[in-house]
Amino acid sequence: MREPIMTAVATVDTGKVEILREVPIPTWFGVGGAARRLAHPASVAQLMACLKIDAGLLVLGDGANLLVADEGVGPLVVVLDRGEFVAQRLLGPDGGVLEGGHELVRVGAGAKLPQTITWSHRLGLVGLEVLGGIPATLGGAAVMNAGGAFGQISDMVHAVTVLTRGGALVEFGREALRFGYRRAEFGGILDGAGAVVVAVTLALRRAASGDELAAARAKLIEVMEYKKSSQPMAAQSAGCAFKNPTLAATIEGIGAAGARVSAGRLIDRAGCKGLRLGCAEVSERHGNFITARLDLGVPGRADDVVALMRLVRARVAERFGVSLEPEVVLWSASGRDTLGS
Ligand SMILES: Cc1cc2nc3c(=O)[nH]c(=O)nc-3n(C[C@H](O)[C@H](O)[C@H](O)COP(=O)(O)OP(=O)(O)OC[C@H]3O[C@@H](n4cnc5c(N)ncnc54)[C@H](O)[C@@H]3O)c2cc1C
Repeated sequence: MREPIMTAVATVDTGKVEILREVPIPTWFGVGGAARRLAHPASVAQLMACLKIDAGLLVLGDGANLLVADEGVGPLVVVLDRGEFVAQRLLGPDGGVLEGGHELVRVGAGAKLPQTITWSHRLGLVGLEVLGGIPATLGGAAVMNAGGAFGQISDMVHAVTVLTRGGALVEFGREALRFGYRRAEFGGILDGAGAVVVAVTLALRRAASGDELAAARAKLIEVMEYKKSSQPMAAQSAGCAFKNPTLAATIEGIGAAGARVSAGRLIDRAGCKGLRLGCAEVSERHGNFITARLDLGVPGRADDVVALMRLVRARVAERFGVSLEPEVVLWSASGRDTLGS
């Protein structure tokens, strides 16, 4: 692999962009309010125009890890679902092949992960299949370091290109990204700073044979089947509500001090499976999935989900002395929020 890089590669002029008003924010939870202002920039120049309008803007990916407050959100919301943000490109032999035979592909941050997996297989490139069944855009997957039992996206990220609110395009190499469990630091510039991931460069391996490619396709099906059998994939949720915690002290039957353990198991053992508040329910199938039940005849409210997350967190703390940290990102009227007390 090339040396880690963190280079300003360009300064971007502003373009013009249309701002839409009071637009519902589509999320996998299917509850929550609207964006006061929303834009679909199709180019980095248009995205720069958005940053000029609101340097504290929020980026909507596939909405698969997001809970939007019922009252909606005030900051400008941008959706990268057009133009260069959904482009997928094999960088080719010139500068695109690494030691060890990995090849580089550059994918717009708004491209969907499932489609990118299929696309890479069509090119004869393998690796991404371990992320089968994870709903995400490439930008959202990189920010969250999406992954699971079979691997995580950071294993394949070569570089990430970010537009800073100052209007500089900066490329972070994988070392500079400091990926951790369900997070990437991007040198701290994403934290509340309105910086936006515009593209992700992945290093994927060319299958040596048709058999290897077929094996990668079979693996994709296996990973998706595993998720379907263990998680309520069809329910309305944001996947795991809480991050798996690292234990400060050994808990009998759960894990040893220092081990990262399943939040779902803690939630289950705290007796929370099946708990319901309004439309929000702790899944019977997987304790760490909080679902919005819109089939029960009660209004779908993000407030119910937040209240249930607080209740679950309190019960786990009471039973085990472990404080669960939300994995789901919360947006309130003023922007990114925390679960509070
Ligand atoms: C059924 C289901 C199963 C799931 N299974 C898994 C799993 O197995 N493993 C796993 O890790 N996750 C899982 N998730 C959660 C989710 O798929 C991941 O967290 C995913 O990475 C979210 O990507 P997104 O594009 O939907 O991001 P969003 O939910 O739209 O956004 C998440 C955060 O990323 C930020 N963001 C998004 N794009 C950008 C960008 N371009 N630049 C800057 N910030 C950005 C948003 O502002 C927000 O803060 C699951 C979710 C569901 C609904």
